[in-house]
Amino acid sequence: RAKSLGRNRMVIFDSAMDAALQERQQLELELRNAIRDDCFNIVYQPQVCRVTGRIAGVEALARWTRPDGRPVEPSLFITIAEEAGIVSELDALVLRQACREASGWHELVLAVNVSPQELRTPHYAKLVRDVLAESGLPPQRLRLEITETALLEDKTMVAYTVRELSRLGVRFTLDDFGTGYSSLDHLRTLQLEGMKIDRSFVADLGREPESITLITSIIALGHALGLSVTAEGVETKQQLALLRAAGCDEFQGYLFGHPVSAEELRRRLRLPRAA
Ligand code: C2E
Ligand code: MG
Ligand code: MG
Ligand code: MG
Repeated sequence: RAKSLGRNRMVIFDSAMDAALQERQQLELELRNAIRDDCFNIVYQPQVCRVTGRIAGVEALARWTRPDGRPVEPSLFITIAEEAGIVSELDALVLRQACREASGWHELVLAVNVSPQELRTPHYAKLVRDVLAESGLPPQRLRLEITETALLEDKTMVAYTVRELSRLGVRFTLDDFGTGYSSLDHLRTLQLEGMKIDRSFVADLGREPESITLITSIIALGHALGLSVTAEGVETKQQLALLRAAGCDEFQGYLFGHPVSAEELRRRLRLPRAA
């Protein structure tokens, strides 16, 4: 009896696996088509400067809706794209469109996410140079957000790319700081301009007493290394007050604005249209 029950379970398990696998393959197929047809929307989220209290920059975030109209979580489609080895193409589309849209936005800094895979490809520096040239965005206004996982493998290649682009004036920020592995070594050896404290630390502010000590130490570490420190996921005034007191340089989060379309951003900030 136990045996037959076991076998039945196996059957149910198999078909659930099958459905999940099929759904996943379907998503990957649709994602490939979306990359081929350049079907992504980009939304922009403000980054606010502590000193001026004004919006100093925006982070470009990719959005994707399936052909049937259902939106897909960015963390999901980015993961699928990474696993399928097609995230570089996706990142390049986002970079190109964001640079084109942001080129006319006065002094606003444009932050774009770059995947581990892409940063390791030898021609990435050339891609960025080309996109900057064709969009007219000054290199000083581009900030590339790299995740720590990007740095785990092939550090030499990553360091080369960072060096090449830094010479042009492009700046690099370590994203989601505190969630990766060998952060301290990377902060020391790479030519970075800033770090972003992961929003999980910010979420704990005001909830966990020791979180203030932790954030203050992270900020002090960043400053000691000459980095500008941005907090992501700032949602409440209390979090903002604590981050301010701790000396954080820049803030990003729903308290200042959700990510919005280029159109909406222009309206809010009274920015001109891209040329
Ligand atoms: P990220 O780079 O850390 O981006 C910040 C994420 O936090 C965004 O999620 C943003 O919508 C969300 N967020 C901003 N403020 C708040 C807040 O106050 N509270 C909360 N709870 N969340 C907030 P999103 O857009 O879902 O993106 C998730 C991740 O997907 C990004 O994390 C980034 O790593 C990745 N991603 C998005 N677009 C791209 C892209 O074009 N290329 C690559 N490689 N990765 C991308
Ligand atoms: Mg980011
Ligand atoms: Mg982040
Ligand atoms: Mg994050």
